[in-house]
Parts: sequence; structure tokens; C-alpha cells
Amino acid sequence: MTDTPLIKVDNLSFRYGSENVLENVSFDIHAGEFVGIIGPNGSGKTTLLKLLLGLLPTQQGSIQIFGKSVQIGTYGKYVGYIPQKVTQSETRFPITVREVVALGRVHPDRILQPLGTKDKKLISEAISAVELSDFSNRLLSELSGGQQQRVFIAKALASEPKLLILDEPTVGIDVQSQETFYRLLSSLNKDKGLTIVIVSHDVDVVMNEVTTVLCLNKTLIYHGNPKTFLKEEYLEQLYGKNRRFIIHGH
Ligand code: ADP
Repeated sequence: MTDTPLIKVDNLSFRYGSENVLENVSFDIHAGEFVGIIGPNGSGKTTLLKLLLGLLPTQQGSIQIFGKSVQIGTYGKYVGYIPQKVTQSETRFPITVREVVALGRVHPDRILQPLGTKDKKLISEAISAVELSDFSNRLLSELSGGQQQRVFIAKALASEPKLLILDEPTVGIDVQSQETFYRLLSSLNKDKGLTIVIVSHDVDVVMNEVTTVLCLNKTLIYHGNPKTFLKEEYLEQLYGKNRRFIIHGH
């Protein structure tokens, strides 16, 4: 086991035009962590993810993932990314669950190659990991929002990621499916050792599942254990007095 952080962010600042969105943000994420990024609307969470993924250029400071500086336009084959509202944009096509997951095996350097035995095995395993084996040949559009979101997790898993990055993955999904979804993430983290970084506004749920909280409000307000975070009452500062948070012991 090595101590090299999987993600290393140093003094990161970012602005859109004249608006400062991130200021001097620094943190490390190590392999095996399940990290929840929280913060009020407009606090820079999505911007931070986009910077981690190379979807926005680094303006100031540095980001290293797997020991390498992030390159604009590519987030590498070890990273599985599940963007916001992915389901709504892709469900219009007549595509089956298995076909979506198979896209996880398509890399730019081998786009025209047929899927091999290893690919097919990884696709089946990924579908099984999200408990959708019975739905493999169904059209994506026939699945519920929660099931669709699990299909996109399977697509990411099929690419054999070491790091899974998710942006508000449960928007528009009912509460019960949200719980199933977070349990799935938690088991991928605990059982398969997958490192997960998730942006979410489901603060209550996130607090109960993650090993590490990053709380942003332009600057990094808190980085550490979710239980200590609650004690320090940062949430009241950020979200107002009337929110209640429930945290269960693990
Ligand atoms: P969060 O994900 O925490 O809601 P964002 O990172 O989406 O926050 O946004 C942070 C701030 O940057 C907000 O004030 C938002 O309006 C602004 N912003 C986000 N994207 C853009 C953009 N493409 N152009 C200009 N301003 C943006």
C-alpha cells in the first residue's frame, strides 16, 4: 500500500470571468475513501468536479490524479464519471441496458474493435453488480429513474475504474431508490475498494454513507470525518438553523 494520494489538489482557484468560484482549495484523497462533496447551491461543487475531470482548464494551482497532472479534455481510463442528469439525455434512444453498459468498454484507441470475451465478462459482471441482470435486454427507456441511474454506474464499472466520480446522481429519483443507490455505492466502496467522490445535495444521506466530507463554500470549509463535521455545527452556518440532520452510527 502506498501513501501517494489518488487525488492531490493544491491551492486551486477558479473564476468564470470576474466571478471567483473557488479560492485556494487544497486537499488529498486516498485510495479507498468514499468522499462526499457538499455545500450550498453555487458553492463551486460542480466546478471542482469539472476541474478534477479535465472538463475545465486549471487556471491557478494544481491537480494531480494518480500522480499525473490533469489534462484538459481527458480524464483517463481509470476514472468512471457519472454526470448530472445523464439519464434524461440518453433515454430517448432505443438502446438496451446491455448496450449502454457495453459503451463502458469502448475506448477512443479501439473504437472499431469488436468486443472480446473479457469485455463481455466485464459487462455481465457490471450489470450483475448493480443487480440488473434480469433487465439486460430491456430498453433503457422502460426502466425507472433509479434503475437507469444504476445502468450508468454499470457502464462506468465496465471500464474497470479505480475512481468513480458522480455529480448529483439522484436528482429526480424517489427516496427509496435513492437509498438503494447509496447502499450500492457503499458496497462498491467497502467490498470492491473502489474510491468514490460524489457531489450531492442529499446531505443527510451522504453523511450516513461517506467516510470523508469535503464542504465547500468557495473555500474549503471542512475536510474530514462526517461525525466531527456535525459536531462542529458547520451545517447550521451554511444551510440555516431549520435543517435537521440525522446521523446513524456505523
Ligand atoms: P454548485 O455545483 O455548488 O451549485 P457550481 O460550481 O455549479 O456550484 O457554480 C458555482 C458558481 O459559478 C455559481 O455562482 C454559478 O452561477 C457559476 N457558474 C457555474 N458555471 C458557470 C459558467 N459556465 N459560466 C459562468 N458562471 C458559472
